[in-house]
Amino acid sequence: MAAGKVLAGQGPEELKELMAEFGEPSYRAAQLIKWIYRPVAAIGEMSNLPIGLRERLVQETVYHPCSRVTVRRSQDGTRKYLLELQDGELIESVYIPEADRSTVCISSQVGCKMGCTFCATGSMGFVRHLTAGEIVDQVLQVILDVGSRPSNVVYMGMGEPLENYGPLLRSIEILNAAWGLNIGIRQITVSTCGLVPGIRRLGKEGLGLTLAVSLHAADDEKRSRIMPVARVYSLDELLDALHEYAARTKRRITIEYALMAGFNDSREDARQLTELLRGLLCHVNLIPVNPIPGGLHHKPRDNQIVRFENWLRRGGLEVKERGADIEAACGQLRGRWEEI
Ligand code: SAH
Ligand code: SF4
Repeated sequence: MAAGKVLAGQGPEELKELMAEFGEPSYRAAQLIKWIYRPVAAIGEMSNLPIGLRERLVQETVYHPCSRVTVRRSQDGTRKYLLELQDGELIESVYIPEADRSTVCISSQVGCKMGCTFCATGSMGFVRHLTAGEIVDQVLQVILDVGSRPSNVVYMGMGEPLENYGPLLRSIEILNAAWGLNIGIRQITVSTCGLVPGIRRLGKEGLGLTLAVSLHAADDEKRSRIMPVARVYSLDELLDALHEYAARTKRRITIEYALMAGFNDSREDARQLTELLRGLLCHVNLIPVNPIPGGLHHKPRDNQIVRFENWLRRGGLEVKERGADIEAACGQLRGRWEEI
């Protein structure tokens, strides 16, 4: 491991090499990795490492690649983080506490090139991929702030995770590993706008994670109007890949559907969606769209949301209880935030 390397994101093997490079006994690697993912705020706090080693680590490595710029809190306890990366780029992460679990929503890229018309991240364009260390450090930053490990992690912040495949898989490994954050693989959700080759590849990895797919329309033409990716992969191809994914992993897929008034919330839209998803091991997560500044889409009225939900249920689809929708679109959360 070269000097200047980032500690968050390293595994046992790399740390053993680093300790060898430093002329330290190899058990130091095991001590170090415990500190990295426990985590502490700074190398100076790694109290069972000799002072000399700590000093050398401070000089030659970076522990946390993310630093907290602001933390905003909403009345329900949700916290939204603005994090700065080493090159000055900014990303967002969200902490969502609930009665029986707590979720951290993380970003996988700075910006996103997929250009979905309803999405705040999409409108800023693509800047760069995140490294595995930058992905994992978002969770470490939340732990440092709230004082406990989350039960769930969702890749629903900024960016398209399947576009950043290698770092995505590496970050999942670290979140899940006993030497890492030890978060159950079933408690990890990857959300994609529907990149078919990536879905197929992920299915073959044999991981038990949860796949979420942003559908938002059950008709190719309509979907293309809000999601340019629909011009590259048709719903037919996407559904094929989802059936294969479900068959391989035996895991229920989450279908995300952001309801937009007068656009995708009619009885006919519900019928098409029911038709499209028939026979797929999935449930539908209905999210009233979060209007973005200058955006064209608005939330349907509450009674229309309930009607749409009932149409889906009557059509035989499983619809997630509402309230869980806080999980989706967490990168786009717009609430009443107070700086703390
Ligand atoms: N790029 C991935 C993951 C990040 S977006 C994806 O698209 O799935 C996380 C979720 O938020 C997606 O379901 C996305 O469609 C949804 N989303 C984005 N902007 C939204 C908005 N303004 N209102 C509601 N949901 C939104
Ligand atoms: Fe990118 Fe997802 Fe936003 Fe689409 S919804 S622009 S894929 S982050």
